[in-house]
Amino acid sequence: MNKKKRVVIALGGNALGNTLPEQMQAVKITAKAIVDLIEEGCEVVVAHGNGPQVGMVNNAMIALTHEDQEQPNTPLSVCVAMSQAYIGYDLQNALREELLNRGITGIPVATMITQVRVDEHDPAFEHPSKPIGKFISAKQAKQMEENFGYMMKEDSGRGYRRVVASPKPVEIVELDTIRTMVDSGNLVIACGGGGIPVVRQGNHLKGASAVIDKDFASCLLAKELDADYLIILTAVEKVALNFGTPEEKWLAHVSIDEAKRYIAEGHFAPGSMLPKVQAAVDFAASKFGRTALITLLEKSRDAVQGKTGTTFRS
Ligand code: ADP
Ligand code: MG
Repeated sequence: MNKKKRVVIALGGNALGNTLPEQMQAVKITAKAIVDLIEEGCEVVVAHGNGPQVGMVNNAMIALTHEDQEQPNTPLSVCVAMSQAYIGYDLQNALREELLNRGITGIPVATMITQVRVDEHDPAFEHPSKPIGKFISAKQAKQMEENFGYMMKEDSGRGYRRVVASPKPVEIVELDTIRTMVDSGNLVIACGGGGIPVVRQGNHLKGASAVIDKDFASCLLAKELDADYLIILTAVEKVALNFGTPEEKWLAHVSIDEAKRYIAEGHFAPGSMLPKVQAAVDFAASKFGRTALITLLEKSRDAVQGKTGTTFRS
């Protein structure tokens, strides 16, 4: 009998929605796609993003400081932790229900609160690039800068948003626990929102003011768990060259060398498709036999059967 294929899934924004009610609905569809893969014989580990959610938690905690002068502002690392917990709750609840609905028993579902170590000298800390939270006016932005020391940036004529650093993940602190849980047959949700960013200070891990890219964190998780597949589920069925132009060309199979050339030619937008392709290439190149896939959430089953999606293989 074939050994089960180990699959790390990275869920994008469309798998979770933008608000609490949206998320509750979205996770039902997401759970179906994930259990489809389990029915295909895959051993699945789930990672996910948190862009809208961490912004929402951050704004809620700022509102608290306005209501109660005794409340200090909440560090971003804590906001990431809160987003991990509440996304994990919705996901594990929906996954459990979907497994039971299909008569699959014996796969316990659990979320691992995950810290991910970053390098305090990562140049990303000097160049905050990742926008989080809602758009606000120039006046409000100035207040945020003065009151909280946030960096605010104008975003394509739509208003101001907070921008935070997005350093590279170096080490998954709870890796051994995650591995033990996966090895013993649990369906584990880990590295939510890219993981809670921490820097090492002797034995102490200090929360960092940052949000780690979930595509890079999922890639690290997949490599560390010696996964066969890294599947990045997003809002497009395939990756394109000349995306959004009349010369648009959808890609089915890409070699590592081709992918590197396409990256250099600038085919993938920074902040959206570029980190996915970089993570896919990094994973596929890391060991012979590893495959990365980028596709639509609803197409994940077809994609593992080789029917669609963009596949990266060395
Ligand atoms: P996620 O929340 O899943 O991380 P993102 O919005 O960050 O999703 O990234 C996916 C988006 O990247 C797609 O919906 C698409 O609009 C955009 N994109 C940019 N460049 C490309 C490309 N070359 N091929 C396909 N999609 C692209
Ligand atoms: Mg993204």
